[in-house]
Amino acid sequence: MALSRDAYRALEDIVGPRYISEDPAVMDSYAYQWLAETVRPNQSKFMPRPEAALLPGSTKEVQAIVRTCNKYKLKVKAYSTGWYFYGAPLTEGVVQLDMRRMDHILEIDEKNMFAVIEPYVIAGVLQAEVMKRGLNCTVTGAGASCSTLVGAVCYHGSGGTSIYTGELRENLLGAEWVMPNGEILRTGSIGSGCGWFCAEGPGPSMRGIVRGALGARGGLGVYTKCAVKLSPWPGPVEFPVEGTTPAYRSPLPGNFRAYTLAFKDWDGLFEACYRLYDNEIGYYAHRQWTMLGEDLGPAFWMLYQDPAKSLDDIEEFVQKQEVKELTEEMRRSFQLVLVGMSQRDIEYQEKVLERIL
Ligand SMILES: Cc1cc2nc3c(=O)[nH]c(=O)nc-3n(C[C@H](O)[C@H](O)[C@H](O)COP(=O)(O)OP(=O)(O)OC[C@H]3O[C@@H](n4cnc5c(N)ncnc54)[C@H](O)[C@@H]3O)c2cc1C
Repeated sequence: MALSRDAYRALEDIVGPRYISEDPAVMDSYAYQWLAETVRPNQSKFMPRPEAALLPGSTKEVQAIVRTCNKYKLKVKAYSTGWYFYGAPLTEGVVQLDMRRMDHILEIDEKNMFAVIEPYVIAGVLQAEVMKRGLNCTVTGAGASCSTLVGAVCYHGSGGTSIYTGELRENLLGAEWVMPNGEILRTGSIGSGCGWFCAEGPGPSMRGIVRGALGARGGLGVYTKCAVKLSPWPGPVEFPVEGTTPAYRSPLPGNFRAYTLAFKDWDGLFEACYRLYDNEIGYYAHRQWTMLGEDLGPAFWMLYQDPAKSLDDIEEFVQKQEVKELTEEMRRSFQLVLVGMSQRDIEYQEKVLERIL
C-alpha cells in the first residue's frame, strides 16, 4: 500500500521535504529489526515496511502529523532509539515517526532533582550532564544509548542502579503526550501549569493509563517530552579508566565498595536481595556473568583482571582448576556496589551487609 499523493504532500508540508521519505531502501532500514524473526511469519528479519518515515522537530509537528494521519486513515508509530522491533510497524498502513531530531535536554532542576527531556535524549548523554551536578539517572539495562523517555513513558526501564535510583517507570514525573486524536495532554503538575516536578494531580493521575506496567509501546499516541526524577551521585564526574577492552581497570573511590556475592542455594540469594531492599543499602546490583554464560563468567572475570591477556586466552583460563572451582561457587551470585553518601554512611552499609550475609 503506497501513500496517496495527497497524503504524502500534506505530510511533507508539515516537516518539509528533507524530513520525509518513502524511499523503499530507507523504509527497509526501519523494517529490518533485531529479533523480528521471533514474531514474523517465516522468521522474516523484516517487520512490515512503513508507508513513509517522518522526522518531526517539535510537538506541534507531531500533532499536525497525527491529525493528518487520522484524516487519511493512516496509523502512526513512534520510534525513538529503536532498540526493539516494537518501534517498527506491526501492520501495513503505518507512518513511522523517527524522533531523532527531538534530542534536547530541556531542563535540569538540580534543587528539585529532575530533568526534562525529549524522546531522543539517550541515557549516556543525560547521565554525563547530571553527573556534573552531583546527580544520577537510571540507565536502562539495554545500555547508555537507549532513550530515557521511552524507559519512563513507553516501555521498560530497569537497570543496574534501579536498587537505588528506581526504575524509569517509577521516575516518571510530568509528561507531554500527543494523544491518538491529535490533542495534546500534559500530565501531572505540568498540566496545571505548576512545573514538571510531580507525576500525580492535581486531579486524577494519568500515569497508570500512560504507561501501565510495561508501557503502551507506541499504541497510545506519541510522547514528546517528559520529566524524570534524578538521584544523588556522590562519585566522580569521570572515572579514570586504564587499559584496553576487555581488561579495563578503574580505581573505585573511597566511598565505594564492590562485591560479588555468591550463595550456596537460590533461597539464600533471594533472601539476601529482600534484605538489601528492606535495609535500603546498595547502589548497583546486577547478575553480570549470566550474560556471558555461567560456565564462562569466572574465566572472563580472571581475564579482565590481567591486562596482559586478551580474548584469545579465554580457553587457558577455563582450564585452570581455580577457575573451575570458582565457576561452581559463582553459579548463584550477583554483583553489588555500595556507595556511601559520606564515610559514616559507607561504614554503616558495610556493617549492614555483613549482618545480612
Ligand atoms: C539487548 C537488550 C537488553 C535489554 N535489557 C533491558 C534491561 O536490562 N532492562 C530493561 O528495562 N529493558 C531492557 N531492554 C528493553 C529496553 O527497555 C528497551 O529496548 C529500551 O528501554 C527502550 O528503548 P528502545 O530504543 O528500545 O525504544 P524504541 O525501540 O524506540 O521504542 C520502544 C517502544 O516504545 C515506543 N515509543 C518509542 N518512542 C515513543 C514515543 N516518543 N512516544 C510513544 N511511543 C514511543 C515504540 O513504538 C516501541 O513500541 C533490553 C533491550 C535490548 C535490545
